[in-house]
Amino acid sequence: MKNIFSLLVILSILTGCALNLATGRNQLSLVKESELQLMATSQYDTFLKENKVLSAGTSKDAAMVDRVGTRISNAIAKYYDSQDKGSVLEGYKWEFNTVESEEVNAWCMPGGKVVVYTGLLPVTQNETALAIVMGHEIAHSVARHGNERMSQALVQQLGGMALEVALAQKPKETQDLFLLSYGIGSQVGAMLPFSRQQETEADQYGLIFAAMAGYDPREAIPFWQRMSAAGGASPPEFLSTHPSNATRIRNMEQFMPEALKYYTPGN
Ligand SMILES: [Zn+2]
Repeated sequence: MKNIFSLLVILSILTGCALNLATGRNQLSLVKESELQLMATSQYDTFLKENKVLSAGTSKDAAMVDRVGTRISNAIAKYYDSQDKGSVLEGYKWEFNTVESEEVNAWCMPGGKVVVYTGLLPVTQNETALAIVMGHEIAHSVARHGNERMSQALVQQLGGMALEVALAQKPKETQDLFLLSYGIGSQVGAMLPFSRQQETEADQYGLIFAAMAGYDPREAIPFWQRMSAAGGASPPEFLSTHPSNATRIRNMEQFMPEALKYYTPGN
C-alpha cells in the first residue's frame, strides 16, 4: 500500500513538472498558477489589513516603492510581449505597498502582489538599490519559485494533496505553507529559505529587470556589500545563507555584462 502511494506521489511529481518560460528550466509545478494567484489575493488583503500601510499620496517612501514597481512591471510586460512570452505574466494584477515595520524585507506573491517593509529602506539608501531588491523579488515570482516551493510542501507535508483539498481540509496549515513559500515567514514565526538555485536565478533576472526599467544594475554590488554588513538582525529572505554574500557578489559580477545590455541610462 505504502509503495503504491509512493509511486503515485512520484508519478504526480513526474507529470507535475512544467517548463518555465521565464527561466527555460523544468520545474515542479503541481499547483495551477491561477489557483495560487487567487489565494494570493486574499492573503495579500489580509496582510495589508493586519499591518500599517503607508499611502503613496503622503509618504515619499511609499511613492518611491510604487514608482519603482510600476517601472519594473511595465518594462518586463513590454519585454515578454516582444518575445511572444506574454503568458509569463498571465493573470498579473500588480500592487505595490509599503508597510511600516523594522523588518529588513520585501516579497512578491503570485500575480504581482508586492510588499516592501520600511526597515529595508535604510539599507537600500537609494531608489536604484530598491529597484535591485524589487527586481529580485519580482524575479522569484515570475520564475514561479513560490509555486515550486508550494508544490514541494504539498508533497512533503500534506502527502501530495491538491491545493483545493488542502485548503478545505487543513486551511490554517495550507495558508502557513503558502506564506512560507513566498518568504513571508515572519507571519508564521518560521523561515523557509529559497534554494541556492532559486536565489541565483532571482539575482540574475532581478538585475536584468532593474536594468530594463532604467536602473543601473551595477548598484547591486555596493548594495549587497551594505546588506552583508547589515546582516545579523532579523535576516530577510534575501539574506538567507544560500548563496553566501561573497558568492552572491561574485555571481552578480558574472551576470553584470548581460544585465548591462538591457540598461539604457536616463530612461
Ligand atoms: Zn531571494
